[in-house]
Amino acid sequence: MNDQMRKLLTQTAACGATYLEQLDGRVVWPSSEAVAALAQFDEPMPAEPMAPSDVVDMLSEIGAPATVASAGPRYFGFVTGGSLPAALAANWLAGAWDQNAGLHVMSPVAAKLEEVALRWLLDLLELPDGCGGAFTTGATMANLTSLAAGRHAVLESAGWDVEAQGLFGAPPITVVVGDEVHVSLVKALGLLGLGRERVHRVPVDSQGRMRADLLPRMSGPTIVCVQAGNVNSGATDPIGEIAAAAHAAGAWVHVDGAFGLWAAAAPARAHLVAGVESADSWATDAHKWLNVPYDCGLAFVRDAQAMRAAMGIGAAYLTAGDKREPYHHTPEMSRRARGIEVWAALKSLGRRGVADLIERNCRHAARFAEGLRAAGHRVLNDVVLNQVVVEFGGEATTRRVIEAIQRDGTCWCGATTWQSRPAMRISVSSWATTDADIEKSLAVMLRIAKDLRGN
Ligand SMILES: *Cc1c(COP(=O)(O)O)cnc(C)c1O
Repeated sequence: MNDQMRKLLTQTAACGATYLEQLDGRVVWPSSEAVAALAQFDEPMPAEPMAPSDVVDMLSEIGAPATVASAGPRYFGFVTGGSLPAALAANWLAGAWDQNAGLHVMSPVAAKLEEVALRWLLDLLELPDGCGGAFTTGATMANLTSLAAGRHAVLESAGWDVEAQGLFGAPPITVVVGDEVHVSLVKALGLLGLGRERVHRVPVDSQGRMRADLLPRMSGPTIVCVQAGNVNSGATDPIGEIAAAAHAAGAWVHVDGAFGLWAAAAPARAHLVAGVESADSWATDAHKWLNVPYDCGLAFVRDAQAMRAAMGIGAAYLTAGDKREPYHHTPEMSRRARGIEVWAALKSLGRRGVADLIERNCRHAARFAEGLRAAGHRVLNDVVLNQVVVEFGGEATTRRVIEAIQRDGTCWCGATTWQSRPAMRISVSSWATTDADIEKSLAVMLRIAKDLRGN
């Protein structure tokens, strides 16, 4: 192309590298000045062009300071991984390639890397060979994709073609979820016409796990949604037991394993998701625990044909070949080639690297729990995975401690309510987090809690 493009991309790479280098030394949540300075973006639609290098400078100067340092080592909010070096680099390169991953003919490399990555993931997560797989924006859409396949299959068994006829006049589908179901799965059910509120909610135990002994009697078209990795406690439903009961009644079993499914990739944690492979479909995220850039989710369906039936389309200009066509598996048609960075992440880590990442984050969560307990704070969950839920005294004190920790800026943790108790949620999900980051963050939490509790 031309020298200007090279200059621009080199300038941008330098900005990105400098940003990442400085992350460790800055406050995790941006300063109020930096957030206020975003007002500089509030200008009318510009009439005239601006040089691309000036556009990048403006982003760097006004935008970068108002980012949340979630790419850094001490962000413990939500379940947010940083970006692995190889995944970020692949994401940049893929941006330069600008491939449309919808069809094989539009990008052989995107189609190939997507296929390879899906095959590796089935192996790594110990899911059945031959599953259909798809890349989505996140676990919300992965849940939708998998549940659409389930909706197809259970209605097909009842003699109904839901893709052709919709749900008007269809046999009703019973949907079973745990009381701690993730809100995004409920939304996916709503989008599929299965209703956000007409679900049967099964009570949960102290860790938020569905009580298998309280499953309803099931008959007719039924979809049972279980969870691997509760967003607060990290606990996984007794999937094997639930799946056995559900399958005996002919039901479809779907697993929302947005981050919890990754326990299967770490030998010392795999027991936590025992039985997960007995389900019919799975949704997970790569942008959480695999640490690829946003956005990237994954859907897997044991009966690849059901996924094809739910998501496939045809048109005269879309010639069907014998190759796997990405767009027959997802809600979208044109989309970015997420398979490239997932391939890069898996290639750079290898099986051992993925296991180390998961195990290290779990060990770090356990260290947080140990340190908090030793100082007299109440950890509300069994810390088995990467999640810690802790309270610092009563409701008001807990709120004040969380706010003060967030303001301090050394690390960032979010507030939650766990079984009616206001608490702080710590999620350790990044490759960048070291032992020293945990000790530094723990020391800050304990100092702030001590100051505010006066003990
Ligand atoms: C994060 C999460 C989701 C939603 O995932 P997105 O990638 O944000 O769409 C669904 N279920 C669980 C258990 C989650 O942790």
